[in-house]
Amino acid sequence: MTRKLLAVLAHPDDESYGIGGTLARYVAEGVEVHVAIATDGAAGSIDEKWQGDRSRLIEARAQELKNAANILGVHLHLLGYRDSGYIADAANKHPEAFINSDDDKTVCRVVQLIRDIRPQVVITHDETGGYYHPDHIRSYEVTTAAFFASGQADRCPNVGLLPYQPQRLYYNAFSNRWVRIMIFMMRLRGLDPTQGGRNKDIDYTKIGIDPAKITTTIDYRDYWDIKVKASAAHGSQGGGTGASRLFPQSLQRLVFSQETFIRVYPPVPPGYREKDLFDAMPEPEAL
Ligand SMILES: [Zn+2]
Repeated sequence: MTRKLLAVLAHPDDESYGIGGTLARYVAEGVEVHVAIATDGAAGSIDEKWQGDRSRLIEARAQELKNAANILGVHLHLLGYRDSGYIADAANKHPEAFINSDDDKTVCRVVQLIRDIRPQVVITHDETGGYYHPDHIRSYEVTTAAFFASGQADRCPNVGLLPYQPQRLYYNAFSNRWVRIMIFMMRLRGLDPTQGGRNKDIDYTKIGIDPAKITTTIDYRDYWDIKVKASAAHGSQGGGTGASRLFPQSLQRLVFSQETFIRVYPPVPPGYREKDLFDAMPEPEAL
């Protein structure tokens, strides 16, 4: 019986910039890896050339995502919601924006995926969304609710699939330890860390969580190149690795080739640490 993993993420590129190393590693280890992307990504910070041409940008981002998924070797599922944009973006107000989607319907859409795929492990963004992006936080809310609803027979009966309770829920989260170093480097270079990102709307001083909350560290040094290649497929977003351009690649590979998670379910005691999302998990029984 196959080990399976489902990651529910907000935007085309979160699968590569965010957890591409982890996904590539589990694909290489024979896990059937599924990625569901909630939005079309058409409100993301974008190149001048896409301004005013939403439909072409949607098309381009879908193609980039498809290419990245092929490079990572994952099965792709598009939930098709409209990108809500970053905090205070006008796109937040659009009735079809992901953040304004109907709670029950959206949760059941993810329940449908879970019941259909039947993964042992489910991953989504943490409650900070990494950098407080409203779509990331929405993914966290919806996926957490769906993880627990999926096993309950009285929830989402219209989905028409048997209830299924996955074994583990993880949030992708990163420690502010590296962010503090990055802030130091930015200040050295005369950059303002409270006005980061292409649109200068990301406050790096508020990013990252207390390292004590991290339970799970996935080393992807052997899959670094796959993550870089998958990230490069997202040309409309700059195609970076998601890591900082302030450091040389060789150093980044050495220091940054880890992605970190919080194990949410089943809960773990304080101080618990593991290096595998499937750590000590019994082989799934044949059904
Ligand atoms: Zn995102």
